[in-house]
Amino acid sequence: MVLLKDLEKFAEKNLDNALEDLFKLTRIPTVTAKGGEYSSEAITELNRIFRDLDFETLTTETKGEPVFTSTSKTDKPKTLLFYDHYDVQPAEPFDQWTSPPFEPEIREGMIYGRGVADNKGNIIARVYAIKMIQELHGELPVNVKFIIEGEEEVSSPNLKEYVDSHHDFLFSDQTSCIWEFGGTNTLGMQEIWGGVKGICYVQLKTTGPNRDLHSAYGSIVENPANHLVAALASLRNDQTDKIQIENFYNPIITPSKEVLEAILKIKDTMDEEKQKEQLGIKKFIGDLHGEELLKKYYLNPTCTICGIWSGWQGEGGKTVLPAEAHAKLDFRLVPNQTPEDVIQMLRDHFKKNNFNVEIEWFDGYRPAFTPLSVPFVGLLKETMLEVYGHTPIIHPWSPASGPLYLFADHIPVLSIGVAHVGSRGHAPNENIKVEDFKQGQVCLARLMEKMAET
Ligand SMILES: [Zn+2]
Repeated sequence: MVLLKDLEKFAEKNLDNALEDLFKLTRIPTVTAKGGEYSSEAITELNRIFRDLDFETLTTETKGEPVFTSTSKTDKPKTLLFYDHYDVQPAEPFDQWTSPPFEPEIREGMIYGRGVADNKGNIIARVYAIKMIQELHGELPVNVKFIIEGEEEVSSPNLKEYVDSHHDFLFSDQTSCIWEFGGTNTLGMQEIWGGVKGICYVQLKTTGPNRDLHSAYGSIVENPANHLVAALASLRNDQTDKIQIENFYNPIITPSKEVLEAILKIKDTMDEEKQKEQLGIKKFIGDLHGEELLKKYYLNPTCTICGIWSGWQGEGGKTVLPAEAHAKLDFRLVPNQTPEDVIQMLRDHFKKNNFNVEIEWFDGYRPAFTPLSVPFVGLLKETMLEVYGHTPIIHPWSPASGPLYLFADHIPVLSIGVAHVGSRGHAPNENIKVEDFKQGQVCLARLMEKMAET
């Protein structure tokens, strides 16, 4: 292993080049939600960046945006796989950006631009970690592979098909994976994410008369909006926050000792009062605190109404009995719940309780996590302690969701990255710190060295 300060020196010396590559990639407005018209430009840029590393590159067409993959020309026993995405969230509202979202710039040690935190900054930091090792060691001590998709921000509709048909390329019993996101918490401490909750997202519809009626009919014609509200209210007990769908909690597994210990450690870094103030709330559900609050946050599934609409939505009054009503609802799922089971239970619930609710569409991911007892967790923790000078906080999984199960079913997957708590992912003025961008490179270079030694 080379000295840590030599890795840091390399990151400093090559900072301008790394920033230039990040800026070039950030200038391409790869907003897949608006259609993939910039995907090919991004792929061209990725080809340039990875060929410059002397990596093999391949673009695979899907039913949506192409998947870009790249592989080192090495033949080592171990492999480090990176999962990233070249697409970004829409940048609107544009007028809330201090500098234009697709014209990245640096102000006071921060890099601003759409995608710098989620997730183009990580792509480039990972590339420069490889350059660092290549220059200081002559060659990579582990094989490195990248999979960079273009549909992460629109729920990765074609990733499953890609992964299913590329098992041999992606997985082996000597492969470990670093996922796309991560950074530091409010105290500036590094965080490792061991997985994600699952999600089941549904759109519901109820129907009544064949057109909107005068609300004078209210005494004799059933209102689909009232019916939908009653159906929604039946799903969750507002007092206890318990989800009242039969068997809903049955599949959930008891958390391991490691998971409970990790949650206890997170407690020491929490400032509940500050968090409530930031969220603009007076208390958390059930007025929970400390360990109980965190256990609920990480270990409990949710049922959240994300949107609800019917009848007259405009200004002023309109006395109308609507013809139909709609709601969007998401369930965040914990191990071992699945979106397919939840949909079936939801259908059964409506039927059994005489609610005539149509499920218009649904979508979802299974929850997934890497057990905290696997050696890769210890190795990453040790690496981060050395590079950052403190033991990182380990989250057993994120309360958010992603297509991680496609990978974590086969190999250890952990998520770290170069963002920080104020990075404003998905929001105006998205940013990362130049310092985190550099140290992120050092951390991954060290990880590769350590992987080869164990
Ligand atoms: Zn995102």
